[in-house]
Amino acid sequence: LVSRKKKPEDTIVNVKGENIGDGRPHFVMGPCAVESYEQVKEVALALKEQGLKLMRGGAFKPRTSPYDFQGLGIEGLKILKQVADELDLAVISEITHPNDIEAAVEYLDIIQIGARNMQNFDLLKAAGSVNKPVLLKRGLSATIEEFMFAAEYIISRGNSRIILCERGIRTYEKATRNTLDISAVPILKQETHLPVAVDVTHSTGRRDLLLPAAKAAIAIGADAVMAEVHPDPATALSDAAQQMDIPQFHEFMNTLKSQAAIY
Ligand code: PEP
Ligand code: MN
Repeated sequence: LVSRKKKPEDTIVNVKGENIGDGRPHFVMGPCAVESYEQVKEVALALKEQGLKLMRGGAFKPRTSPYDFQGLGIEGLKILKQVADELDLAVISEITHPNDIEAAVEYLDIIQIGARNMQNFDLLKAAGSVNKPVLLKRGLSATIEEFMFAAEYIISRGNSRIILCERGIRTYEKATRNTLDISAVPILKQETHLPVAVDVTHSTGRRDLLLPAAKAAIAIGADAVMAEVHPDPATALSDAAQQMDIPQFHEFMNTLKSQAAIY
């Protein structure tokens, strides 16, 4: 069902007036993790200033180490929703357990399924059974075919509002956190009718590569770019090394806007 052979025309995922897949790049920005109301609000105000609508923030954090900050859980979703309602934004956050999908629908505009859960089939089925867009990330070691099958789990349950997100894959290269598989974007656009996003933060893991990676993503036809923004990245409870601070975020957006005309 995700195949373009089944449905030749592009799927456009509408989220509060943002039409992801309409041929223009959209931006999903916000902190790695929700830490406090004040932290989210500060980032949200910056997004607003840039005219952006889609705010991200992790509440259920899938951390490599069990001793690292695990996120605020439902409390984090409540903070996101409160700020979003105040500023008329749409929110996206990762859900890691199938039982939380139902509750998440109340707080979120887009449900994110993270790389580590791309083949959590019960989670995929649960996300396929609700009336809410889903951003599905590519697994750390998933082939494009496996990625498409994961999306198939969601769509086969009746939910076709899916955004695929390339977020880097594991290779032998150590210069970046993961290797951004940029060619996955046009392949996924050819093979499926779904919009495709590129997460420049988790793929590169390097603040200095966020802008060039975003330019590449837009140039190659990505429908959305995801990146992380934190008021004070040095004190962030997760991903301190690659989040942008607010002035860097404005510079990032202004540069892309001035060069987007080129594309
Ligand atoms: C995230 O976007 O917060 C995240 C954890 O990303 P990934 O699942 O791609 O590692
Ligand atoms: Mn992160």
